[in-house]
Amino acid sequence: MNPLRADHISPLDMFKIGIGPSSSHTVGPMVAALDFRKQVAAYLQSHAQAHRSKLGISVELFGSLSLTGKGHQTDGAVCAGLAGLDPKTSDVDEIWSMQDTLNKLGHLDFVLGATNIAVDFKPDRDLHWLEWTMDGQSLPHPNTMRFVLSANKDGVTSPLLQKIIISVGGGFTENIDLDTRQRMPAGADVEIFDLPYPYNSAQEFVAVCKASGLSPWQIVIENEKVRGLDEIQLREKLSEILQVFKSCIARGLATEGILPGGLNVKRRAKALHAKMLDESSKLSSIRPDGLKHSVYAIAVNEENAAGGRVVTAPTNGSSGLIPAVFTTLKESHDLSETTLQNGLIVAAVIGALVKTHASISGAEVGCQGEVGTSCAMAAAGATAMLGGTPEQIEQAAEIGIEHHLGMTCDPIKGLVQVPCIERNAMGAGKALNAVELALACDGDHMISLDRVLLVMKQTGLDMNQKYKETATGGLALG
Ligand code: SF4
Repeated sequence: MNPLRADHISPLDMFKIGIGPSSSHTVGPMVAALDFRKQVAAYLQSHAQAHRSKLGISVELFGSLSLTGKGHQTDGAVCAGLAGLDPKTSDVDEIWSMQDTLNKLGHLDFVLGATNIAVDFKPDRDLHWLEWTMDGQSLPHPNTMRFVLSANKDGVTSPLLQKIIISVGGGFTENIDLDTRQRMPAGADVEIFDLPYPYNSAQEFVAVCKASGLSPWQIVIENEKVRGLDEIQLREKLSEILQVFKSCIARGLATEGILPGGLNVKRRAKALHAKMLDESSKLSSIRPDGLKHSVYAIAVNEENAAGGRVVTAPTNGSSGLIPAVFTTLKESHDLSETTLQNGLIVAAVIGALVKTHASISGAEVGCQGEVGTSCAMAAAGATAMLGGTPEQIEQAAEIGIEHHLGMTCDPIKGLVQVPCIERNAMGAGKALNAVELALACDGDHMISLDRVLLVMKQTGLDMNQKYKETATGGLALG
């Protein structure tokens, strides 16, 4: 198995267009369920004798997925994925109505040529919320799912196809080998390309930028070309991502009301935005434009909490921070589309380094892995956009993570609302501070980004489970 390397993670992996409210508890399970559906279809295609049995699918959700899955709409996401809907392209209303539809229908349809095979699946009966062990063993990951296709013949049920999948944050999923229970990272079995500019640490990234004389984003562009994505294609995809940033800020600023989930959290981006624009308000005398990044972050995270279309940056819980920082700087510095794309590429390098050497999952390391990572990505991307050197970019990212170390994940009722929404606003402020500090310095600093990532990982391992997306400690207790 090839170990995961930072330079093998594309910017398009880090920034995935999907739906709220959670990348690990909504997008990941939906992707896993869609993947299982494809495997069931392939199985039925090659096992005609199975068509004569009564077939059924069951889904087990373990650990953090079970404890906070209802608040994160994991059940609805699994139903949508099993029904063949895609988090990036399917209609958001269709996604969120699928659970009710399946409860009424009681089955999934698999169309194989001229044959339609109905496979039993009724969410209220076939979706199970389980604890922290599977078959008497500890879980391979806090966000573990098991999908089983079974045949029922003469009253005897036998499994035909089984998959254990973990959702590791940011919409990424990994398979678990059924025999060894080892993790098999997505892409682990794909070809490892000989990249022209390899790096697997922040130190190596800075070194490769300096030795090549290329800009930090050009390093990634050249590596992407080897993997078959030319610069024009990459920039087109990055433009799509920026467009989603723009549209979710606009929707967030235009929408009022109460967020779903039962916590009665009032949407406030629209009202805050109006206050920000009101010159007679006291706000403008504190810091001109000082509220802007907070308002933008809150707008996106309210859209995320409402199950709308957002981008993992690197997760859904932290989806507002990077759009807020980038949009604020775009407006204040009149940044071009190309510059914003370059910033996204650099931000993604930092996200890939965190994913490789620590974690971007709140269930694994707490919120330092989500909002902390997002802050570091935003700070690095923004420093690059404003002309920082590779050393200053590394320093900005390090500051962004360092001052989130130890931050817990304790969402009330398991909903990605409190403290998550406001936490993005605070993280955006820290990111802008980190940019200013890094640009004011020469890049020479005591703690490296590589070192802080090791500390982040260890801090996450040491953190009590109740502070890692289980809604059983901290603010979640009310
Ligand atoms: S507290 Fe942080 S890590 Fe936890 S769900 Fe909210 S944003 Fe994600």
